[in-house]
Amino acid sequence: MNFEMITPRTTGELLQALANNQGSRVRIGAGYTDLILELKGLKCEETPLVINLADLTDPKFTHIEKTDAGIRLGALVTAGKVIIDASIQTELPVLCKAASELGSRQLRHRATLGGNLCTASPAGDIAAALVALEARCEILSADGTLRTLALTDFLVGVRKTALRQDEVLQSVFIPTRKSINKHLLSDFLKVGTRRSMEIAVVSLAYQFELDAEEIIRHAGIAIGSVAPTVKFVSAAGEFLVGKKFSSIGAVAADKFAAMVCAEATPISDIRASAWYRREVLYNISRGIFDK
Ligand SMILES: Cc1cc2nc3c(=O)[nH]c(=O)nc-3n(C[C@H](O)[C@H](O)[C@H](O)COP(=O)(O)OP(=O)(O)OC[C@H]3O[C@@H](n4cnc5c(N)ncnc54)[C@H](O)[C@@H]3O)c2cc1C
Repeated sequence: MNFEMITPRTTGELLQALANNQGSRVRIGAGYTDLILELKGLKCEETPLVINLADLTDPKFTHIEKTDAGIRLGALVTAGKVIIDASIQTELPVLCKAASELGSRQLRHRATLGGNLCTASPAGDIAAALVALEARCEILSADGTLRTLALTDFLVGVRKTALRQDEVLQSVFIPTRKSINKHLLSDFLKVGTRRSMEIAVVSLAYQFELDAEEIIRHAGIAIGSVAPTVKFVSAAGEFLVGKKFSSIGAVAADKFAAMVCAEATPISDIRASAWYRREVLYNISRGIFDK
């Protein structure tokens, strides 16, 4: 495997690298856990050129920042950093759980949040949590302009994003929802064909906000590996809003699970059949309300 590499250290150098290097041979590299496989498989007449983000020092790319408005995570934040961050643990527990399910400890040390989104796998664990949290992508262009896009619009198909050739993902932003006395109920449920180092066959990420009376005030839900992209499940979330969590019985739980499944368009592949994926999705969705 042969490739050239440019390693910018500042955002200015990165913009210059993006502006000067365009075309099908150019790739962006962060933790390389996905890219290395892509580079190995390339049947390219030209030698690939990698713009390596790994040495960037700009905190906009590397830090987790909490303000009153919300939490911003740089694209180069690794799964390992997400897991140990106190504000993520308390405010975005679904993201913390999803990051802890990604690959192995070694992999989590390298794998970045930006890489997980930009690789646009329907099975992306961090992607599922961030879709449930209604994250917005902050995208930097070679001319220095920044545009924002809902993550659901960023993920356009299997391994396809809305990124243009002269753009990189700088960060994601999760706005704070202003509610009084809220407490969170969340989980990331991942079903695979084995227990460790497994890509999801089906995943479900959810974070509910409950008030002091246990009424669900907001429900962010995402499903993975059952459609070409990770999907936000809005109708099933809206169905829960206004209901008291502990009063949701069998009938409502069944209806909720059916509504989640209505959003799924799974395929059969080497790892699972479409039928199996639907059954599992139904059962894990319904299981949220098992007492
Ligand atoms: C053994 C193994 C197990 C795995 N297990 C899991 C798992 O359980 N769950 C899971 O979700 N994933 C898993 N993965 C996939 C992978 O580890 C993750 O998707 C990881 O988050 C990718 O991040 P990275 O920094 O390594 O990305 P890279 O490999 O560096 O890049 C991935 C893609 O994103 C692009 N890219 C990266 N950063 C940017 C940016 N800031 N702007 C624009 N483009 C960018 C690259 O060009 C490339 O196309 C696994 C991979 C391996 C090899």
